[in-house]
Amino acid sequence: METVNKVIFVVYDGLGDRPIKEFGYKTPLEAANTPNFDAIAKKSLCGLSNALGRGVRPGSDVSHLAIFGYPMDKYYTGRGPIEVAGLGIKLQQGDVAFRGNFGTVDADWNIIDRRAGRIRVVDEFAAALDGMEIDGIKIIVKPGTAHRAGVVFRGPGLSANISDADPHEEGKPVLEVKPKDDTKEAAFTAQLLNKFMRRAYEVLDKLEANAKRRADGQLAANFLLLRGAGMYPTMPTFEEKYGLKAACIAGGGLYKGIGAFLGMDLIHVEGATALPDSNVRNKFVAAKKALEKYDFVFTHVKATDSLAEDGNFEGKKQFIEKCDAAMAEFLDLPDDVLLVVTADHSTACELHAHTADPVPILFCSPHVRIDDVQEFGERAFVRGGLGRMEGKDVMPTVLNVMGRLHLIGA
Ligand code: ZN
Repeated sequence: METVNKVIFVVYDGLGDRPIKEFGYKTPLEAANTPNFDAIAKKSLCGLSNALGRGVRPGSDVSHLAIFGYPMDKYYTGRGPIEVAGLGIKLQQGDVAFRGNFGTVDADWNIIDRRAGRIRVVDEFAAALDGMEIDGIKIIVKPGTAHRAGVVFRGPGLSANISDADPHEEGKPVLEVKPKDDTKEAAFTAQLLNKFMRRAYEVLDKLEANAKRRADGQLAANFLLLRGAGMYPTMPTFEEKYGLKAACIAGGGLYKGIGAFLGMDLIHVEGATALPDSNVRNKFVAAKKALEKYDFVFTHVKATDSLAEDGNFEGKKQFIEKCDAAMAEFLDLPDDVLLVVTADHSTACELHAHTADPVPILFCSPHVRIDDVQEFGERAFVRGGLGRMEGKDVMPTVLNVMGRLHLIGA
């Protein structure tokens, strides 16, 4: 009999939620009409999961790392390296990476606009700074979406243990970057960042493209505000760790970053926007197609989280129904394909925030011990055969279904 050798792994960001009075105290997932989610749940082993354990409110970055078996204490020093990986920069051990915004400052470096008037394309601004060298350190600058950019410091003797320059508030001055420990590496890197901000300001402020923006009555993109410093760790790729050739399908920059950070290939899908208008079905069709080339396809859907962050429970319910239609793509997967559907954390509409409430998780395959769960929902999954698990249990469970777990003992 054939066993499982391919995996489609779908993460609905912030899918779990709390009872909503307007829905008769059902969650958006319970209130939504979801025949396809339910049909999949009926053919699955179901349960609840907390990515970082009970009573921990996870951020999306660290919860994804936990689910994929990369504990944060070992592999996470900041969001910079993850975001930067998603921009196509191949990181090297010892690199310090930042994420940043092109913004607007006055001559005294007071922030006028953190996003330079919501500038849409920053390619030429990033190019003007890319390749700079200061004190023997090479500086790589790559444009992100809209006002965003990724920056890497590359060279010996760096540390990510430094403070942020971004005051996160307009009208306030840019903060001087300081070391957060007594090492010479932290002192050197803090000084380097201060010097880089000065040099970048001098280049950007007199850039022709900014003269043009000012002439058009737009705010100049004359500053690069950096934050989220992180050092790229020595780590195995997903393929090295599990022996599974992996791809990532995501619209959001952070999630492409997580895929790239773990060495997954990024698959671009037309219409994958990370917004409620995202073409979820296209992503699922692409995920199935990717199984021809890959063993493991991570597919991320974002808007379940963002709608809940806005407190928009009606929007979250409607988006879940839209996703349900797309889930039809997974109703008839071949027997050797395991479908995992879960979330990175709950996002409660009532709080507009991530919570520590557990999330549904299912393993859909004829090779698992299918339980009696009849519908896809937070409370229906309490009775699932998986019971309660944590992020760190997820990949071992996948490997077990695939028959790839190492034997302990004899
Ligand atoms: Zn998330």
